[in-house]
Amino acid sequence: MLNNDGDIMQNAVSPALSENLIESFSPDRSLPEELSFLNTLSQNFYWSWNESCERLFADIEPGLWDRTEQNPRLFLRDVAERRLWEKAADRRYLKRLHRAQAEFENYMLAERKEFGETNASRPIAYFCAEYGVHNSLPIYSGGLGILAGDHLKSASDLNLPLIAVGLMYRFGYFRQSITHDGWQEEKYTDSFDTERALTPVLNADGDRVKIGVRIRGREVFAQAWLAKVGRVSLYLLDTNVSENDAVDRYITGHLYGGDSETRIVQEEILGIGGVRLLRKLNIEPSVFHLNEGHSAFLTLELAREHIASNPEASFLDAIASISEKCVFTTHTPVEAGNDTFDPDVLLSCLSEEFINDLKLDSKTFLDLGRTNPEDDKEWFGMTPLAIRLTRSANGVSKKHGEVSRKLWRKMFPEETPVESVPITSITNGVHALTWISPIFKEVFQRHIGDDWETILRENKLWSEAVGAIPDEEIWNAHLLAKRLLIAFIRERTQESHTGDEHTINEHKRTSTLFDPNVLTIGFARRIAAYKRWNLIISDLDRLLKMVDHPDRPVQFVFAGKAHPQDRKAKNILQHLLRIDNDSNWQKRAVFIADYDQEIARHLVQGVDVWMNVPRRPLEASGTSGQKVAMNGGLNFSILDGWWIEGYNGKNGFAIGPREDPENLSVEELDDLDAESLYSVLENEIIPRYYDLDENGLPAGWIASMKDSLATLTHSFGSDRMVEDYLHKIYLK
Ligand SMILES: *Cc1c(COP(=O)(O)O)cnc(C)c1O
Repeated sequence: MLNNDGDIMQNAVSPALSENLIESFSPDRSLPEELSFLNTLSQNFYWSWNESCERLFADIEPGLWDRTEQNPRLFLRDVAERRLWEKAADRRYLKRLHRAQAEFENYMLAERKEFGETNASRPIAYFCAEYGVHNSLPIYSGGLGILAGDHLKSASDLNLPLIAVGLMYRFGYFRQSITHDGWQEEKYTDSFDTERALTPVLNADGDRVKIGVRIRGREVFAQAWLAKVGRVSLYLLDTNVSENDAVDRYITGHLYGGDSETRIVQEEILGIGGVRLLRKLNIEPSVFHLNEGHSAFLTLELAREHIASNPEASFLDAIASISEKCVFTTHTPVEAGNDTFDPDVLLSCLSEEFINDLKLDSKTFLDLGRTNPEDDKEWFGMTPLAIRLTRSANGVSKKHGEVSRKLWRKMFPEETPVESVPITSITNGVHALTWISPIFKEVFQRHIGDDWETILRENKLWSEAVGAIPDEEIWNAHLLAKRLLIAFIRERTQESHTGDEHTINEHKRTSTLFDPNVLTIGFARRIAAYKRWNLIISDLDRLLKMVDHPDRPVQFVFAGKAHPQDRKAKNILQHLLRIDNDSNWQKRAVFIADYDQEIARHLVQGVDVWMNVPRRPLEASGTSGQKVAMNGGLNFSILDGWWIEGYNGKNGFAIGPREDPENLSVEELDDLDAESLYSVLENEIIPRYYDLDENGLPAGWIASMKDSLATLTHSFGSDRMVEDYLHKIYLK
């Protein structure tokens, strides 16, 4: 569409430009009056972390709930009238509904907490380019989005005055399918082909609120959608409006689907447009949180506003004032992972007027995004811009804080010691109620009490409470979750037509696939070089000896997407999928296509072990292992990101040394870690898992599970994370 690579892909997989710009949301389905609460609930993602609410939908017709991919709006549109009336006549169902409704209404009514200047009328504004709230709002690609979704859910549960801004990607992120010979293909779907839990944002006259940003020499307009995440309002900007040129209507089309120019203009809409939207809505934030550099243009818009209302002010005056309100979180430990833009392309996307309004010339403007302002060749980086124009910068784990201080030291005066670089850290966490399986929630409720969610906010109380749960309870709950995972795996890999190749993503018969008594290892992540998908198969003979062991075998479940243009990554995946020999690999290894939040939930809840083998120090934090820990699974990971902080020698397993030994090549480091990976598996994990006591329970293993549950659930939860942001960053 626009130019080079990105666009070839978009056109190949997206519907044609001409006729698909129409929005087609249905109004609420008219329901039996007894069930009218379901319409309200379908418009608030609150249901997605409250089991009893989810059941209200699912229990009406479980098959349809799955077929609609747990999308309540679509579900309510399609569910048979007869099923609805059955429920309207079912007293037990209605009792549950009334209880859930009362809880929901109570939850929503509570007044927001106040913290001096930060309060309901002056909230924290959280900006992010993607949000993984639930699968039925497919505007996330991976870790960053899921983290943002979990941040909003915890902010809601903690009742903080926080609102959020993002983009409504009409075609979202790609969905992955795998051909019969193991090659990844991509497909985009149109959000407006289905129902979404979004409402149009209207002004007092009932018209769409619209904002304009001057981009590429013309005014580009965007409208907004509101998604409700419990008590938090998430506003999503969308350039698909009739005033715009066809090309501009696609600006918010795809998440990470375009080239660098698309990225720039998306980030203009997010940052500049986002601030303008808040002004239109009369929202006056006390703090702007730039979650990753994508939204960093918002600082410039705030500076422009400041100068517009203080004509005497210089750019530096403006910065001094607005940076007090802005805080920044960086998520990438390598320079190449940070957005940088070609200065010429950037200048062609921004308007001259905007730069003039800042009282800057183009050189001083571009220098704001350079680590070295002397170097006119250096591209414009969103991270340097964000570091310069905010009052606080942080990484997402202790280690990542350290790495970031080293990485960005060059932006500070030469004599600055690395420990004095002003970048702190707050370690990522995950939303317990979203990620803990219903099975474990029930165990916690029974043994810890109805207030287990509150106890979870107190590390010490929680540890003691978990320690007191009987071993068999923990083990039986885990086995149940594992059975569910295996059923899910069998369902997802069942294909009636498979190719000539035997690949581990499709099977005609799945009833013998996977064994609940076998040690099950999960590995799901993006397929990128530093994540080292190859490590586990680097010595295939040694691996297959473990897989084929007559008494103590292991089985593996894989999932993950490769970037559409990354052929190398697709080759790695294809190679893995096509491993076929006379071992048991084909029935003890599976790949589940189209990794997303729903698949993640099944995997993290059911595996025994979660493996992670990134190259140090490239895992800024990682969060999937935190989800596993809350469900009694054990982490088996390189000591990088959050795991350096989480691992205590007993609550999981470490791969390799604490630090990379010096003077080794990448290949040598990989060999070293592979050796450690295999030997920890052979000598620690497998023996501990299969060592049963007189009651037939793996007592040593369960002790590790309990230690993991006790030590990691609170510390790596997003409630702890959001509290940290509140006290250490938002309220300085
Ligand atoms: C949690 C999660 C991630 C992030 O996991 P990492 O540990 O950072 O790899 C990515 N994708 C999905 C779908 C997730 O649920």
